[in-house]
Amino acid sequence: MRCPFCGADDSKVIDSRLSAEGDAIRRRRSCSECNERFTTYETAELTLPRLIKRDQSRALFNEDKLRAGFERALEKRPVSIDAVDSAVKGIIHRLRATGEREVESRLVGDWVMDALRQLDEVAYVRFASVYRSFQDVNAFREEIERMENTAESVTKDN
Ligand SMILES: [Zn+2]
Repeated sequence: MRCPFCGADDSKVIDSRLSAEGDAIRRRRSCSECNERFTTYETAELTLPRLIKRDQSRALFNEDKLRAGFERALEKRPVSIDAVDSAVKGIIHRLRATGEREVESRLVGDWVMDALRQLDEVAYVRFASVYRSFQDVNAFREEIERMENTAESVTKDN
C-alpha cells in the first residue's frame, strides 16, 4: 500500500481489526520511509455490475426499474408483494454473484422471465410478449404453444 504522505511503496501493518459491524477490516499501517501512520479499510466488493444494453450503451442497474417491470407484468394478478420482493432480491443476488463489472442486460431480462414463469404464467406471457418480440419471435411462439399444450393436458386430466 502506497504511503499517502510521501508516496513510498512500502508500508507495514501494525494493527488489524474487524469493524464493529463485522463488514470491514480496519488496518493501521506505518510507512517504512517516513514512519507516518495511516488507516485502510478492506470491505467486500458489493457494487453491482453495470448493464450492457443492446445498443452497447452502459447503464447503472436500477432496482426501482426492475420492480416496476415486475409490477407492470403482474398488474391485477394474484401475486403478493412479498413474492415480488423476493423475486427482485433473487435477481439482485444473481447479479452480484456474477462478480462481473458489466453484464448484458439481456441476462437480467432472462432472469426476470424465469422468475415470472414461476410466479404467474399470465404475467410471464405479458412480459415475454414485450421483451422477446424484439429478439426472438419464434421462441416466443413456441413458448405460447408449449403453454397451450400444457393447459390442454391439465383440462383433460380434470
Ligand atoms: Zn511515507
